[in-house]
Amino acid sequence: MRRPDKPSAGYIAALTAVFLLAVAWGWTAPGTQIDNYAYDFMFRLTASPPPTMDSVVLAFDDRTLRETGGMSQLRSVLAEVLDLVSRQKPKAVAVDIILADAGADQAAREADRRLAAAFRSVRHLVLPCDIVPGGWQDPAPVFRGTAEALGHVHGGADKLDSVTRQIPLQAVANGRRRWALSLEAFRLSHPAGPLIESPEDIELGGVRIPASGPDRQMRVRYVPPDAEGRSRISTVSVKDVLDKPETARLFRDKVVFIGVTSQSAARDRPLIPTSYGQATPGVEVHAHAYETLAGQQFFTTAGQLPVLGFCALLVALAGLIFWYRDGWGAYSLGGLLVASVMVLPFVLFSRNVVFPVFGPTTSAWLSVGVAASYQHFVIRRRLRRTEAERFRYQQAIRFVTHEMKTPLTAIQGSSELIGRYNFSDEKRKQIAEVINSESKRLSGMIQTFLNVERLSEGEMQLKKETFELRRLLEPSLARVAPLAERKQIAIVSGRTDNALLNGDRELMEYAVYNLLTNAIKYSPAATQVSVTAVQDGGTIRIRVQDQGIGMDESDLRNIFRKFYRTKRAEASGEAGTGIGLSIVEQIVVSHGGSIEVTSSPGKGSCFTLVVPATALPGGDSADSSVQERQIK
Ligand code: ADP
Repeated sequence: MRRPDKPSAGYIAALTAVFLLAVAWGWTAPGTQIDNYAYDFMFRLTASPPPTMDSVVLAFDDRTLRETGGMSQLRSVLAEVLDLVSRQKPKAVAVDIILADAGADQAAREADRRLAAAFRSVRHLVLPCDIVPGGWQDPAPVFRGTAEALGHVHGGADKLDSVTRQIPLQAVANGRRRWALSLEAFRLSHPAGPLIESPEDIELGGVRIPASGPDRQMRVRYVPPDAEGRSRISTVSVKDVLDKPETARLFRDKVVFIGVTSQSAARDRPLIPTSYGQATPGVEVHAHAYETLAGQQFFTTAGQLPVLGFCALLVALAGLIFWYRDGWGAYSLGGLLVASVMVLPFVLFSRNVVFPVFGPTTSAWLSVGVAASYQHFVIRRRLRRTEAERFRYQQAIRFVTHEMKTPLTAIQGSSELIGRYNFSDEKRKQIAEVINSESKRLSGMIQTFLNVERLSEGEMQLKKETFELRRLLEPSLARVAPLAERKQIAIVSGRTDNALLNGDRELMEYAVYNLLTNAIKYSPAATQVSVTAVQDGGTIRIRVQDQGIGMDESDLRNIFRKFYRTKRAEASGEAGTGIGLSIVEQIVVSHGGSIEVTSSPGKGSCFTLVVPATALPGGDSADSSVQERQIK
């Protein structure tokens, strides 16, 4: 079996469908979720702690709340600890405790005033705000003027699995925009510079932060936990600072994030990729986000176009592998392709580019699967068909060689007779004529068979000669006359125009002769076969009509296939090799013509050869004289 040089349309269509399916699948929730898992996995595998860390969490942990009077005393305790912290001149202090309500009674109002005074003593203070129904929930008026900036603490948990992989750097409510708490802490603690926005990123003090989209999401480069699984972000308990004021030295030149970490009181405890399903206090996530900004090692997300391009490349590679390779070679290369798909996302991830895994992996798997199945089923089917054809071809060869035996036997017998006996001159001449005519028949058979083979291989050049239509029909009619006579079939030769054809007369004669012999073979005795040949404008129509066994619709679709024989013909005992009509078709097509067939079972068939006519010299139009000739 020879494979076509170019992949077939069906194969390309199947692979295109695979590409579209894989890409569309990658955009669905399960696809995104798998990409998230892969992201977390690569994150944990490649994460390394930054060389220096700038942030410290000052935590209202369980012990602090238990031993300092709980949440109701939080503001007084915060004021007390801030006095100690601010003396150490931290670079900035960001508070992740919503202070929206003002004190209700005298004592509470006094505590608020104390806290506001403590806030004022802090250099670069960021207070939190959050979005609630109705708009921004800002700190109570008593605190508002004390902060240099308000930073939002709006979460960025993934809707599918609640893991916070990125945070929105900006949030908008009621038309007012606020930057994230971590970004504000970074802005205040670093040499100030203008904040320049572009669709793809934010530039702050010369640092380019990739953050696109309406929320300006930034992927947080979480600081990985230590070998024991403890967070590397230093966390100091408020109670420890109160008990040992010298502990406050830890805050010198640091950015301090203050929040509630107590299991029972902390409002937000997001999941993060490095915490293995353990919730992390929200205030720590702000510290991680701050470290991402300070470390200036940002992740960027690969654009849609490169991803689509990569998927298309994988599908094309799988397609080419299975088109140009077979068996184990193809399977090994296909396997290698699937295995190597993970390499690109991994290499890119280590270079801080987040590339999806699901779309490319699915593209590779599916395309390898589909290409392999296609080759398996479609090519196998083709192979089976070719084998069946070869079998029939062998049958035909057997048939032809069998046919050759008849003239050969006659030649052999005759030559033996001459050698063995002393015949009279008369008899000798007779035997020589038999040998001569039988060997001519034999060479004619061989020549036709060879011509046909060469014609089907496209090797044979058609002879180009101009000849009269009559010269085509008359010899054929003469040759079939004895056959018709034997079955008492009348051949009615109707109108024959005096038209001219251009081409190979011998081959065209073979075509007409074949139609005539078929008409006689597949007709019962004492019926009629009529032949007409007319010029109709620029075409010549040669029509052979019989009153024979006929054919049904399905036969008509197949009779031009090599070696096809109808059941009806086989039952009649007349069927031959089944190659005659395929040859007729090749001859007519190579002359720029076509064949029309009409037939119905039991009612006879009509074959019409339609070939281009050649203009008569001198512009003479066809002679329309009608001849009626009956051959008995
Ligand atoms: P074969 O040598 O078998 O005649 P052909 O290629 O000439 O081979 O014809 C193919 C088949 O088409 C035949 O076997 C026969 O079944 C059918 N066929 C051809 N011509 C006729 C006809 N005039 N009437 C009925 N069946 C025909």
